Amino acid sequence: MMARCHVCDGQMAPANSTLTRLRGGRRIQIVDVPVRRCSSCGEEWLSARVIKAMDQLIAANPGATVLDYSGPEDDSLSETHSV
Ligand SMILES: [Zn+2]
Repeated sequence: MMARCHVCDGQMAPANSTLTRLRGGRRIQIVDVPVRRCSSCGEEWLSARVIKAMDQLIAANPGATVLDYSGPEDDSLSETHSV
């Protein structure tokens, strides 16, 4: 069953996205993050697991401003967070 967009009820499809996170005034770009993207309005959602992996990646690379995502795939549709 396809997940539905919380904003417009469109279909959410797996996609990769470059996201920017803020940590203590630092802007960090994370490349190739697995997200769910709405095919209608473009809203992107992340699983809690992916958010946690991004946080760990940032913590493991102090001073970095661009990181390649290397954590788990988005395998959870039940826990999603707006980007
Ligand atoms: Zn939507």
